[in-house]
Amino acid sequence: MKKQARFGNLGYIYSTAFSRRRSAIIFKSMKQKKARPQRQKHIPQRTCVACRQKFDKKRLTRIVRTPENGVVIDPGGKQNGRGAYLCDQRACWEHVLQQPQLLNKALQTTVSAAEWQLIAAHKPDDNPGATA
Ligand SMILES: [Zn+2]
Repeated sequence: MKKQARFGNLGYIYSTAFSRRRSAIIFKSMKQKKARPQRQKHIPQRTCVACRQKFDKKRLTRIVRTPENGVVIDPGGKQNGRGAYLCDQRACWEHVLQQPQLLNKALQTTVSAAEWQLIAAHKPDDNPGATA
């Protein structure tokens, strides 16, 4: 009799705590607690094709293979097509210029000489003191 009552109580707890809807609510509130309380909801992170580090999108330059214009720099980051990102470290730009297959692979194309010139022209400025 006593056992049964206990079991019944446990059953009630289980059904409440682990009901699908309830656990969804619990998980949701856990997620919200973990999230940054700041107003920034979501900063998109992208990986630089040269150094493989993740950066805020702002720090990266998008290079995109467009269906119409081939491979171009996409300053707004909104052009359609397959994109690859390079961070603002000049070394990374030099790295892909020396290792074209990195970008070719990322864009799934062969970047032409003219397109490479375009990309090279967007190389970020040298940091003062850094070796060229
Ligand atoms: Zn990089």
